[in-house]
Amino acid sequence: MFYEDLFDDEVEMIFDADLNTLTTVKTGGKAKVVVSPNSSEQLIKIIRIVKQNKIPFFILGNGSNVLASDKGFNGVIIKPGRFLSQIFFEKDLIAAEAGATTAMLANFAMQYGLTGAEFLSTIPATVGGAVAMNAGCFGYTVKDKVQKVIAADENGEHVFYANQLMFGYRTSIFENNGMVIIRAYFKFEQSDKEKVEEVMAKLKSLKRNLQPLDFPSFGSVFKRHEGISPAIMIDKLGFKGLTVGGAKVSEKHAGFFVNTGKATTEDFLTLINIVGSKVYEVYGVKLKTEVKYLGDTDDLGRLSYSYGV
Ligand SMILES: Cc1cc2nc3c(=O)[nH]c(=O)nc-3n(C[C@H](O)[C@H](O)[C@H](O)COP(=O)(O)OP(=O)(O)OC[C@H]3O[C@@H](n4cnc5c(N)ncnc54)[C@H](O)[C@@H]3O)c2cc1C
Repeated sequence: MFYEDLFDDEVEMIFDADLNTLTTVKTGGKAKVVVSPNSSEQLIKIIRIVKQNKIPFFILGNGSNVLASDKGFNGVIIKPGRFLSQIFFEKDLIAAEAGATTAMLANFAMQYGLTGAEFLSTIPATVGGAVAMNAGCFGYTVKDKVQKVIAADENGEHVFYANQLMFGYRTSIFENNGMVIIRAYFKFEQSDKEKVEEVMAKLKSLKRNLQPLDFPSFGSVFKRHEGISPAIMIDKLGFKGLTVGGAKVSEKHAGFFVNTGKATTEDFLTLINIVGSKVYEVYGVKLKTEVKYLGDTDDLGRLSYSYGV
């Protein structure tokens, strides 16, 4: 079969991979193949092959901000994972490979008594996904801490310094340039290990109290916007607990929609449509989804309902 002949034997490939095991919301069909490069050279080769063959591809981190089509994905998923997950010092900066988790990065900084990464310990992301999305919480974002990023395309590695990264609210230059982040360099401040540990524990406990972490989800459904927050509008409309199939507006935090067990992506899309349309009707606000859609071209735009996006 075509996909089986595409890459060198030493590339880790999983064929007909279940997307519901690769996304934190646990929905989605099968992807033709998931490849996990073990080096920058291998990654560049993979990108070259998919581009030369005009094969659709999607870069996947921890899948914590992804809704995958129930029909699956007829293309290649490039997943910098455990083979690209080293964290180390380079002079006074911490270098973290894309497949490392943000929790690993926060723990690494904590071990050296460095402060500034604590918020990252509460986000279920990879370093690549957190940089691409400019993830943030508790008043901090990745933008405040990143000094430099190395990313790849079919031509090789490229260096991006902080002022070239075009960070914005839950976005960066990587949202549209198709490059794969390989490694990011962070600068944190010297503090005290016990203090950092304490802050991390406090932030984790705050999140546990605020968010429905006992259920699979993809975090905030809608992006923040000027004025009243999406969660407050959704709550005021009485939507907490509203369920479509197995997808439900969380009772704990109306900005989160959760998988109660057997949800499909279609259930989530319908729920997003119902809630988004009503918010538009009542408040005149066109909410934009934060979550990224993973599916074939004919499915793309499924998050673009009449109310906006
Ligand atoms: C319980 C829960 C709580 C959350 N809390 C927060 C929060 O507090 N703050 C917040 O900002 N987000 C939060 N999120 C959302 C999510 O964790 C972030 O958006 C995160 O940045 C996604 O990282 P990921 O590795 O899972 O990326 P994925 O979800 O896999 O991908 C997200 C996007 O990044 C791109 N991407 C991933 N890796 C790379 C790479 N190596 N190179 C280039 N592009 C790449 C993907 O193509 C996709 O467009 C939460 C999610 C959950 C489930």
